[in-house]
Amino acid sequence: MTLTSSMLDTFVGGQIEVQNEGEGYIYRGEIKTAVVEDNEVHVTLNWSAKGEGYPPIPTAWVVDNRLDYTASLEIYTVSDIGPGSEGGRRLCLNSLIVGETVVLYPNNGSKLDPTKVRSLTLPFKPVGFPCRETGCTGIITDDRRFSVAIQTSCTGSSLAARCPVCGRLHWSESGEPVQSRSFEKVFYVNGDLENRPLESSGRLSATRELLAGAKKKDLVQSYYHGHLTHLVGLGHAPDCPATTCTGACLCGVTEAKKWLAKHPLETETV
Ligand SMILES: [Zn+2]
Ligand SMILES: [Zn+2]
Repeated sequence: MTLTSSMLDTFVGGQIEVQNEGEGYIYRGEIKTAVVEDNEVHVTLNWSAKGEGYPPIPTAWVVDNRLDYTASLEIYTVSDIGPGSEGGRRLCLNSLIVGETVVLYPNNGSKLDPTKVRSLTLPFKPVGFPCRETGCTGIITDDRRFSVAIQTSCTGSSLAARCPVCGRLHWSESGEPVQSRSFEKVFYVNGDLENRPLESSGRLSATRELLAGAKKKDLVQSYYHGHLTHLVGLGHAPDCPATTCTGACLCGVTEAKKWLAKHPLETETV
């Protein structure tokens, strides 16, 4: 089969296992990014562990510094080996020349528990953050059973965490709620992404959420700018008093405009 970058999206947040019985090594790691470029598979990892006692079977895992993996598709054959005992389909890369077998496990597939890896310091916060859906009391944690990879560009995707109570998605890195391109709330329900429109008051609270996030000086500033600019472009919500000049804005557009005027994108550095 011909491997493409988009086929690798479901593996972000999942794991890779690289083993070579002849050479006597086995590695497991959590996939941060995975793309195909110049007929090579490039995988970067959030963490990596080496198995001790392999072959035949690893008896312990120790943290390893290698956080990227590359395989040339000229010498590796790719096959879909279907789902394992848990999760979706897996991909296998095999090279007779190198003697290596590589299995990519999807985000919801089999996982080596990182807390079982000796000397591994997890970059994730152990404490969760509260769900931003109005009225929801869910706590979002880094529990990977509740995370989903969301495509954020042609080749990239980021991990979003699903509220275990209502299903609303939040970016794992920042804890900010995920918004669709059309400025809707995004939920993950029954294995599917679901966009739900914001009513006026919801739009205002969403604007406040965005503004709260935008105040943080970090790499995601342009993300907020994009969404706030988009919100302003939509104009006032149909039921906003400002639409009919009967009162002050209740839909968030005015707040967004003020913030954008004060913080033009080009004055920001990352
Ligand atoms: Zn929730
Ligand atoms: Zn308004």
